[in-house]
Amino acid sequence: MPTITKSTCCYCGVGCGVLIESEGDRVIGIQGDPAHPANFGRLCSKGLSLPLTVASDVGRALYPEIRLDRHSPRRQVDWESALETVAQRFADIARLHGPDAVAFYVSGQLLTEDYYVFNKLAKGLIGTNNIDTNSRLCMSSAVTAYKMAFGADAPPGCYEDVEHAKTVLFAGSNMAYAHPVLFRRLEAAREKNPDIKWIVIDPRRTDTAAMADLHLAIEPGTDVALFNGMLHHLIWEARIDTGFIDRSTDGFAAVKNLVREYTPRIAAEICGITEKDLIQAAEWFAASPASLSLYCMGLNQSSHGTDKNIALINLHLATGQIGRPGAGPFSLTGQPNAMGGREVGGMATMLAAHREISNPGHRAEVEALWDVEQLSDKPGLPAVAMFDAILEGKVKAVWIVCTNPVHSMPDAEKIRQALQHAEFVVVQEAFMQTDTMPFADVVLPASSWAEKTGTVTNSERRISLVRQAISPPGDAKPDWWIANNVARRMQAQLQPDLPDLFPFTSPESIFNEHRKLTIGRDLDIGGLSYAVLDKQGPQQWPFKAGQETGQARRYVDGLFHTDNRRAQFHITKYQAVAEVTNARFPFHLITGRLRDQWHGMSRSGRVAKAFSHEPQPALTMHPKDAERRGFKADQLVTISNKQAKMTLPLRLSDEVKSGTVFAAMHWNGQYLNSGGINEVIAGKVDHRSFQPELKHAAVRIEAA
Ligand code: SF4
Repeated sequence: MPTITKSTCCYCGVGCGVLIESEGDRVIGIQGDPAHPANFGRLCSKGLSLPLTVASDVGRALYPEIRLDRHSPRRQVDWESALETVAQRFADIARLHGPDAVAFYVSGQLLTEDYYVFNKLAKGLIGTNNIDTNSRLCMSSAVTAYKMAFGADAPPGCYEDVEHAKTVLFAGSNMAYAHPVLFRRLEAAREKNPDIKWIVIDPRRTDTAAMADLHLAIEPGTDVALFNGMLHHLIWEARIDTGFIDRSTDGFAAVKNLVREYTPRIAAEICGITEKDLIQAAEWFAASPASLSLYCMGLNQSSHGTDKNIALINLHLATGQIGRPGAGPFSLTGQPNAMGGREVGGMATMLAAHREISNPGHRAEVEALWDVEQLSDKPGLPAVAMFDAILEGKVKAVWIVCTNPVHSMPDAEKIRQALQHAEFVVVQEAFMQTDTMPFADVVLPASSWAEKTGTVTNSERRISLVRQAISPPGDAKPDWWIANNVARRMQAQLQPDLPDLFPFTSPESIFNEHRKLTIGRDLDIGGLSYAVLDKQGPQQWPFKAGQETGQARRYVDGLFHTDNRRAQFHITKYQAVAEVTNARFPFHLITGRLRDQWHGMSRSGRVAKAFSHEPQPALTMHPKDAERRGFKADQLVTISNKQAKMTLPLRLSDEVKSGTVFAAMHWNGQYLNSGGINEVIAGKVDHRSFQPELKHAAVRIEAA
């Protein structure tokens, strides 16, 4: 009989529960967990193929490796040598050049406990806030907007809202591919009630858009103009909720004044849609008893991502579409634990448990809870700035954990140059074939899904246990264990007089310390423990001591987390994409996901059947644009701009509008004669969230 282990899917932010079937150290099957409230037994193609990703040791990082200099190959070493080397080099560089000369670049794929130890190592022990994560590329604009509007991070709603909503507005989200199991719940709700309206805002006719009642195929990056135009219509047609605005918000008058100039006609012209469609969307949104917006990278991965989020939240506040079942602005997290990373403060711009680096009181609280002397008040380097600083020689050592920045960051060539320029690069990874691995001076082999235990928080603030079912291959170790063992060695060198900061012996011991830091905060989980999660199943936060369940929805009483408990409107002026098209670079390049692949394919690329849906990379172009240029389907074309040049086969489809081309983000250096599509993405960052514009570039397309 196989052993059954309850765990959680490690791909997307839906956070589906799984039942892992194993025999000895082999995973032999998987099923959806019928008792898990995120998925009730359903899994998508990615989740169902998870056993295949751990079926073989081939391509896995199995043993620690070190190279003595950049001209020598790496050689296998034991853990003691690897841990000692990393601890010594990081401590030496921090002592010689100051704590900000080292940096950590971690991942939303990490478990909360892994994240916690890395964050404490950087901020509590070394004294630098230079720890950022690939979640910066994913949801930092959503975080910034939530904090600006509501005074606190995290989506206010829950997954049940998809069953209560009567109008669903998808913005910059191909949810059918990116969050498939939650999307199935929306489909089921509409099958029961065909009056439910779906509005999809997306420049491309994705599978999600093809199912919409109204598809607004806006020009890339024009979302703010659209939302402002919708708000203009609703204000002047008296379709707003003045009672809610008066009772629960501030700042409406200034926004009303701003949107005067965004008449539906002007806004529709900017967006490249009809005025009638814009008005229809506004009417459905305001008239519905419950309007839910579901949004993702199309809003966030933009040089004006915060404005896009805020403009959408303004619509919710103006119409009172929040705090009720089925109503609210719901940012979908891409990765399985982007939320958990935020909770432990594992980013360069925040402290543990939603505290702020810039707040002396918050710093003092964390100093007391960690028993450390003085936390740095200097914000750390967010992802793009971190790699700039490495290239400039300001950051000399970087420890990259469970992520592949040479593929996922914008301006891939700059990332390669930065890593080449760094004095010391540590790569902690489960897989060897990533585009970043060749730059590693030290490889630390990490356990992967099914091989380690901890917790993750999904998009609806629900914390689930991830449980180990099998032993990791070779000498791979859990991420928390690696961080903890380097940290202990570093403390002996850097802060020997402090009490033991890293006494952790298990993920549970880390969770228990993390829990203490949350008490009294908006995400208080004082009532949660591994025992509660084990007995009662996954739980939403907040879950205070004495409570029996978590809180499904926030702001139901119309009170927010701002100082005066009122939500805040903010002015959002439309600004064009960072790279506008012109005669030299006439095409909008937009990027997105495929159905069966995940991120840089280090995991999903191990599954042969994941290629049956899209077997090869391609650039999608409208047939009329191809005809004008004399291009034929499948021919090779070059995509170029000031940034770089790369080659892809051409695919013809009217899913993109004339003047726009599309490429999937997944394909990496193993499949292309270059890195991925981010070779040609400059990635200008949003000035408030520091999230780069990964979704768009202006490019030229020529025959190869
Ligand atoms: Fe995994 Fe997301 Fe699919 Fe659920 S929807 S099975 S979490 S990839």
